[in-house]
Amino acid sequence: MTPDFLSHIEGVLAGIEADGLYKRERLIAGTQSGRIRVRGPGGERQMVNLCANNYLGLADNAEIKAAARQALDDYGFGMASVRFICGTQMLHRELEHAVAAYLGKDDAILFAACFDANGALFEPLLGPEDAIISDSLNHASIIDGVRLSKAKRFRYAPGDMNDLEAQLRQADAEGARFRLIVTDGVFSMDGHIARLPEICDLAERFGAIVAVDDCHATGHLGDQGRGTPALTGAGDRVDIVTGTFGKTLGGAMGGFIAASQPIIDLLRQQARPYLFSNSLAPAVAAGSLKAIEIAREADDLRARLARHTARFRQGLTEAGFTLLPGETPIIPVMLGDAVLAQRMAGALDERGVYVAGFFYPVVPQGRARIRTQMSAALTDEDVTFAIDAFKDAGRTLGII
Ligand SMILES: *Cc1c(COP(=O)(O)O)cnc(C)c1O
Repeated sequence: MTPDFLSHIEGVLAGIEADGLYKRERLIAGTQSGRIRVRGPGGERQMVNLCANNYLGLADNAEIKAAARQALDDYGFGMASVRFICGTQMLHRELEHAVAAYLGKDDAILFAACFDANGALFEPLLGPEDAIISDSLNHASIIDGVRLSKAKRFRYAPGDMNDLEAQLRQADAEGARFRLIVTDGVFSMDGHIARLPEICDLAERFGAIVAVDDCHATGHLGDQGRGTPALTGAGDRVDIVTGTFGKTLGGAMGGFIAASQPIIDLLRQQARPYLFSNSLAPAVAAGSLKAIEIAREADDLRARLARHTARFRQGLTEAGFTLLPGETPIIPVMLGDAVLAQRMAGALDERGVYVAGFFYPVVPQGRARIRTQMSAALTDEDVTFAIDAFKDAGRTLGII
């Protein structure tokens, strides 16, 4: 290797550090939960965790762990094959059927991650004569997946139905054969819910297909946790749903696409992340299957999550913090200034609350925030503890 190359890379890293964008990983000593043990220079500390996607608290669920352990014994550690060669066990088909039944679709197809599901979705289904119309706040994996397809690309301003209509018109004017609208169900930085009924109305008017990435909704939002189509009443007007097992549904890993039979059949034939990547580990498949079973029935956990969300929102609002309005368990505390957000995250850390600060370029300039996420793994006392820590830190820094 030429030494120039490594010094070039080191220069890039120094630039990231100088911009204050260098990400450092902290070490969690135990399980993912409402309280976690965080390892630091001074040893281990217990902290209240407000930044996992563990909405129903299933990441350390005893029944899910038992199902995974059983699968390890019955089905082995790994498949050492892609699905179509010798990597499909009964378990994989059971999980696909369970996802499809849960989300009210004909069938589903599994991937190693939802990142892969979104990378797989567009290229086989749409050609250069077609158009994809994408919300400009969509997840990175959608952006990458769209880039991998040859379809014409149109972007609309976040949640802006007038702009979506304008883009659909433009796609029409350019003679697109098929049009596909794609949106996150819940936008992870803001916690906003996509306006699915209006999107579906426009889709019907313009003869478009609707795809929703429901990673931040499946399992905890809507009736039985069926996600934003159920929550918003759009229901099966949404044609394609992509999702993850890496958040609410057990939090391990894996993704899926659920849709009508011909769509899933074609993806099984042609989706590259499916054809050229290993089958889900049996223990992960079995644990995720159990997670769906639990999530369907988990009205008690959803009620607890909603209670925490309402209390935390109310507590911080009354204390004088500025929150983005919303109804999901994603609660962004707006601080504006990146340095202030960083200092607030530090002050909360000292007070035993684990949060994530987000600044430009992850969010727009001047819109720095601390994104908090509620979880059914938190107790009422944990939520009180977190509200008190926000108040104390906020007063110390002169925010409230
Ligand atoms: C988390 C997330 C993904 C990626 O899911 P993985 O299964 O972790 O790859 C994709 N889309 C959205 C909207 C997400 O929030």
